[in-house]
Amino acid sequence: MCSVQDGEEISPVRREKIVEERTCMKCEKKAVLVTRVNDAFCRECFMVYVTHKFRAAIGKSKLIRDGERVLVGVSGGQASSCLLHLIQEGLSGRAHKKLRFQPGLVFIDEGVTVGMSAEERLTTCTQVLEIMEKTGFPCYLKALEQAMELDRENASNSPQYSAVETKESDTALGTSGKSVENMAKFHKYDEAEEKLKVLLNSLKSVTAKEDLIKSLRQNILIDLACKKGYSKVMLGHCSTRLAVHLLTDIAQGRGAHVAMDTAFADTRCSDITIVRPIRDFSSKEVTMYNILNNVPTVFIPTITTKAPDSASIEHLTEKFVTGLQADYPSTTSNIMRTGEKLHTEKKKDTESQCAVCQAPLDTDVPPSSALSAVQFSETVSRCSSVTLSICNSDKECCGRGDGSCQSKDPTLTREDVISALCYACRLLIKELDDVNKLPKHILDDISKRQRRIKMKTEIEDFLLDTEDHV
Ligand SMILES: [Zn+2]
Ligand SMILES: [Zn+2]
Repeated sequence: MCSVQDGEEISPVRREKIVEERTCMKCEKKAVLVTRVNDAFCRECFMVYVTHKFRAAIGKSKLIRDGERVLVGVSGGQASSCLLHLIQEGLSGRAHKKLRFQPGLVFIDEGVTVGMSAEERLTTCTQVLEIMEKTGFPCYLKALEQAMELDRENASNSPQYSAVETKESDTALGTSGKSVENMAKFHKYDEAEEKLKVLLNSLKSVTAKEDLIKSLRQNILIDLACKKGYSKVMLGHCSTRLAVHLLTDIAQGRGAHVAMDTAFADTRCSDITIVRPIRDFSSKEVTMYNILNNVPTVFIPTITTKAPDSASIEHLTEKFVTGLQADYPSTTSNIMRTGEKLHTEKKKDTESQCAVCQAPLDTDVPPSSALSAVQFSETVSRCSSVTLSICNSDKECCGRGDGSCQSKDPTLTREDVISALCYACRLLIKELDDVNKLPKHILDDISKRQRRIKMKTEIEDFLLDTEDHV
């Protein structure tokens, strides 16, 4: 039954057949929809097909254990709403074989990125929260600006960072009232909001902004999952979206991360795995599922809504892929299958991860690489400014200028930051005038790395010394 293969060779000419009267490919009843050109389904068979596809993706991976706590990212959009509905159905008694994990839901309010007013943000939050609370699962509400003040070590003690949490036992009415009240409190991150605005405004291109928002969103999800004891983060990324991600990644210099960004399981973080159980669904299937089941969705504008096609690399890629998909229905599945052949080696220590996007660093390359050529030409062209910025404090500087300066300068230099980033995130930082505008947890992470590198160098010296004495 799951033998339906994506990507049959279909020429645009054959699309004309769609208008003909079709019967369901499984049961010969009158079809109500056609997913790909050749797959006509009646309502019942489509539901069976979609549910099976979802369950098979989870079952095949054998990653999600019984009783495991899974944090589900809900954006209010089509794909994540579809995922939420599938999970609800899978956990209900109606399901043929019940799903056995424990979901928690999180919505990240990104209103700040599009300059929404506090009232507008409250409205969208209320809308999404209403949908989330109806499920009866624990719900969390986060704002993107909270990524500016994440505190990895002891955030659970500080009430400011804790999400709005509603208990399963609360009645629907009670929780709604409480949530709105909590939300009013919750939106008082003025300082963080200001910091995020400054950070986003100092990035020149929309591409860089989008990329940063993506990383910050991921940071919040991972952070919340860690603190609330979830071991998996589940995202509603469908194949169309992932095909766009894949091509965008390549265009943005994230070629090394394609495998992780589009795989079923993203294991870039050691303790939290990101899973994408509807990655085999096309956006058409998602939309049809939502229509047939009356799944409520909330439209929330993003930074590229209403923007021209060429606003950002991702937006342009999306236009390209969806345009191609319209004429050649196997486009996304072909892109995805090509992507599946790629593989990224995961490194074990956190120091070989990018401080912004947590992907493995792809900058550990031989001296004669293209990357070092780029670095060299950058250094040459910025020569004068580099010598100035290496050490900001004037007198005490030891003058070595290699990051091991002993003078107590709390601000990180651009070189320090860049050394902890992957190639694509370096491009992003290039647009930033002051690296200290980055979120606190990223800067803390980088200074920690710097101290460790320094310590390692010191130990190395010590070991060499003793050897000399012996
Ligand atoms: Zn049928
Ligand atoms: Zn990165």
